[in-house]
Amino acid sequence: MAQKRKKAGTRLTGRIVLPGDRSYNAARMEFNRRFSKFPRVIVFCRRTQDVINAVKWARERGVRLRARSGRHSYEAFSAVNGGIIIDVSEMNKVKVDRKKMVAHVQSGNPLARVYRKLWNERVALPAGTAPDVGVAGLTTGGGIGLLSRKYGLTCDNLKQVKMVVASGRRGAKTIVANKKKHSNLLWASQGGGGGNFGIATDFTFRVHPIQDVSIYSITWKWSDLEKVFPTWQRWAPSVTNRLTSTIEVAAKQVGTIVSTGQLLGGAKELRRLIRPLLQAGTPVKVMVRTVPFIEATRFFAAADLNLEPKFKITGAFGFKPLPRQGVRIIRKFLSKAPNRHSTVWSQSLGGAGSAVSRISPIATAYPHRKAETIYELSARWRNDSEQQRSIQWVKRFRRALRPFVVGDYVNFPDLQIKNWPEAYYGVNFARLKQVKRKYDPHNVFRFAQSIPVGKKRAK
Ligand SMILES: Cc1cc2nc3c(=O)[nH]c(=O)nc-3n(C[C@H](O)[C@H](O)[C@H](O)COP(=O)(O)OP(=O)(O)OC[C@H]3O[C@@H](n4cnc5c(N)ncnc54)[C@H](O)[C@@H]3O)c2cc1C
Repeated sequence: MAQKRKKAGTRLTGRIVLPGDRSYNAARMEFNRRFSKFPRVIVFCRRTQDVINAVKWARERGVRLRARSGRHSYEAFSAVNGGIIIDVSEMNKVKVDRKKMVAHVQSGNPLARVYRKLWNERVALPAGTAPDVGVAGLTTGGGIGLLSRKYGLTCDNLKQVKMVVASGRRGAKTIVANKKKHSNLLWASQGGGGGNFGIATDFTFRVHPIQDVSIYSITWKWSDLEKVFPTWQRWAPSVTNRLTSTIEVAAKQVGTIVSTGQLLGGAKELRRLIRPLLQAGTPVKVMVRTVPFIEATRFFAAADLNLEPKFKITGAFGFKPLPRQGVRIIRKFLSKAPNRHSTVWSQSLGGAGSAVSRISPIATAYPHRKAETIYELSARWRNDSEQQRSIQWVKRFRRALRPFVVGDYVNFPDLQIKNWPEAYYGVNFARLKQVKRKYDPHNVFRFAQSIPVGKKRAK
């Protein structure tokens, strides 16, 4: 009898979607349509208690679980066949305390909403560009964006996280991690990667005053690649930390190179600062203007809209500019790209007084502090007939660039990377395993590239 009562166990609460429900198909899909997984249930949590119940429910039944916020995982780590998806996207309150210059942000917020709510108080959190990326995945993996060089990564501004973790053999509980309590868990939530330790429900971030910013965009023809790319690589990490910039080289059939950036300063200063870029090759289109910060977020978000639905992306860090041979590799691969949607993208991160580089590689779980730039090699497609070739192209491209770049960003995960612990975490992997052992000894939060519990697995 007692056994039976135990089995009835915890009930799921929140908005529950099951196979057969009308909304099931929309509810199960990831942003990357390369994946199509069929969970046994999806629960849209509205309160922390819904998250606790869902974790308990899964543990009592031995059902695999995944945390989900914005669904933007490149390798669909937030979806699972036959398991439960614990979705926090309906937990999306934002509260700004302008006196203390902090924002309380629930973990289900997409970035556009965070930017907007913070803008109402004329403050900003350095975060990513895509409007519908979730703040949870972004923060726990790092969080790079157009304010990074001045204000650091999103995770560098994280003061506190509230998380539902597994407890005992079948339970779940909430803990609050900050510098004073559970400081190891706070550390691990600053770049250790989403989904590894528990389900974050609430973040407290340091925020920064913001008003107008200046933005630029410069377009060149592809034939300028050898002039523009090396110039940008030398310039971007050496310019003032108030300026963060990107460069994207499109497939040869598109034939463009575009650099964009944002300055905390005026248009006149920005025009002066981008002079070295304007003198490289022959720009065919130049835009410089001063806009309210919220408008700048929309400008950068545009690059992440209307993309092909399926993709394979890999990332890497540049600790120094690519030599000529590296640029030749970019030319070679983009000359034979699988289609017109393949690109190489890079963003400045470190260098001259950058807030990212000022932090020690072991101060947070994000170790790539001394990198000057980050790269993405991307293939996107719609038709399945293009899939195999596109994935192979990314794989070969990554291999060819290996001598010149280092590691990968855990928020650009790539299942093809065999030594992913080293690539994502470097020196911090050992400590991450210790944190895992403490907060998730039964390995409840696991997926293809989750941090392992290791040898001293708790009973
Ligand atoms: C179009 C696009 C643009 C991007 N732009 C940027 C950018 O500008 N800067 C940048 O740094 N990155 C960027 N990224 C990468 C992005 O940071 C990662 O994909 C990130 O993991 C997405 O988080 P999510 O919450 O949307 O995804 P999800 O798929 O929901 O989650 C990602 C991971 O976090 C876990 N997770 C989700 N919610 C929680 C939670 N509440 N608690 C604990 N773990 C959780 C999941 O289980 C999964 O492992 C971009 C990605 C895309 C697809």
